[in-house]
Amino acid sequence: MSVRTGELPSSQTEGLPAAEARFWTGDYYNQGNDQASGMMDKLKEECGVFGVFGHKDAAELSYYGLHALQHRGEESCGICTSDLGGDFHYHRGMGLVKEVFDRDRLDSLVGANAIGHVRYSTAGASRLANAQPLVFKYRGGDLAVCTNGNLVNEPIIRRELEESGSIFQTTSDTEVIAHMIARSPKDLVEAVKDAFARLIGGFAFLIMTKDVLIAACDPNGLRPMVMGRLGDAYIFASESCSFEVIGAEYVRDVLPGEIIVLDRSGIREERYAVLQRRSVCAMEYIYFARPDSDIGTINLHSARKRMGQQLALESFVDADIVTGVPDSSISAAIGYAEQTGIPYELGLIKNKYTGRTFIQPSQELREKGVKMKLSAVRKVVQGKRVVMIDDSIVRGTTSLRIVNLLREAGALEVHVRITSPPFANPCYYGIDTPDRRDLIASSKTVEEIRKAINADSLYFLSKPGLLEAVGGAEGEYDRGLCLGCFTNDYPTPVEFEDAKATSCSCD
Ligand code: SF4
Repeated sequence: MSVRTGELPSSQTEGLPAAEARFWTGDYYNQGNDQASGMMDKLKEECGVFGVFGHKDAAELSYYGLHALQHRGEESCGICTSDLGGDFHYHRGMGLVKEVFDRDRLDSLVGANAIGHVRYSTAGASRLANAQPLVFKYRGGDLAVCTNGNLVNEPIIRRELEESGSIFQTTSDTEVIAHMIARSPKDLVEAVKDAFARLIGGFAFLIMTKDVLIAACDPNGLRPMVMGRLGDAYIFASESCSFEVIGAEYVRDVLPGEIIVLDRSGIREERYAVLQRRSVCAMEYIYFARPDSDIGTINLHSARKRMGQQLALESFVDADIVTGVPDSSISAAIGYAEQTGIPYELGLIKNKYTGRTFIQPSQELREKGVKMKLSAVRKVVQGKRVVMIDDSIVRGTTSLRIVNLLREAGALEVHVRITSPPFANPCYYGIDTPDRRDLIASSKTVEEIRKAINADSLYFLSKPGLLEAVGGAEGEYDRGLCLGCFTNDYPTPVEFEDAKATSCSCD
């Protein structure tokens, strides 16, 4: 079998820079798709948190819960346990949940309460010190904290704390919160409320002392967290898919600006801030969360199917097959196929076992374009006009690679349909995005992007189409969604000196 690694036909390269007019011949589909190489094109998941209050198997439940949240962060993970009045036991490590924890390790994490964390990877901050939960000693005893999200005004608060004597060991926002709590003269819950009231950003926190567990979300509800029950125990998680694996029952979402306190006396549901404009991250619906998760009453698979249906209504194109870029766009591709009657096919396959590898392809194999992460199914796409559904275009590099994979496998036409409006602005709430100037939609028209990704046609789902597909509450501003990266209309102030975009609190 010959593998084509040369130039694309001139009909497909009109307007493309020379480097992009070639088939991609890297070691694997996502090679260089990271910040360090300046090639990041897919958005990075944020982080995932998981908590248990009042179950004898708290560590083991956390293990399975974090495993179900693994897609939110693959770089490091950790679990900290506590029994009422007992000691903290914790372990953190670099790698996947199944790599970091074994039976002996879990057995050592005794206690009925636990908080755990999975963290995504960013270049430069890849070290154990940033793995969570972070554990501190303060005048009230031990304190464990983990979070998902980003504090926009963290640099200001950090500077104030440093100027008044605080010494930080990590670059994490989480440590800033711990210092704010530790320096307050008030009791734990009031100290936490005061600290949260100063924060601006998108965040979901779990905080644990020896006998208290606290869960809280930002006043806009940007970062999701759900509460469940397992027998008499309470469970908290970034996504409801983690309840399914441990047999917990979903109770409700943690509300924007809410703080839930669990201790010996039971559960207290309070507010530390009034409800602001509710603004759940739209990318959770489009891309981040697992399709078997629900946010509120909305199931993610169903929402993505409706996005595909909406795309079909807005941008029908005559084609032979519809395929989705795995995994996040398969639901939408099914929706597009159902709406148009064009058959859904598995035109692209993702190899799920491409974690860390120490074996690099030889030069000879590299030249043959060995693709480890994503493959086009030649017998499915060959000679076909393909509609390819994807969730977003960030820099354009990955989209170009995937379109070229399909062409290389013999697709006659590739029509790209995106289940979100153009991603033209950075995120300030914990999604790792490149600088604005590197977002292809910030400077190029749709037609220019079409050329840059080598597609025959390109369409982005409209904002009204997205809102209709997600189906949030009518009457709320943007139906309760944050659309900042599409519209440049953010639900909080973001213009601070040193305001942090593009990173997660976990950093
Ligand atoms: S700016 Fe975009 S990625 Fe960030 S929270 Fe809002 S919708 Fe999500």
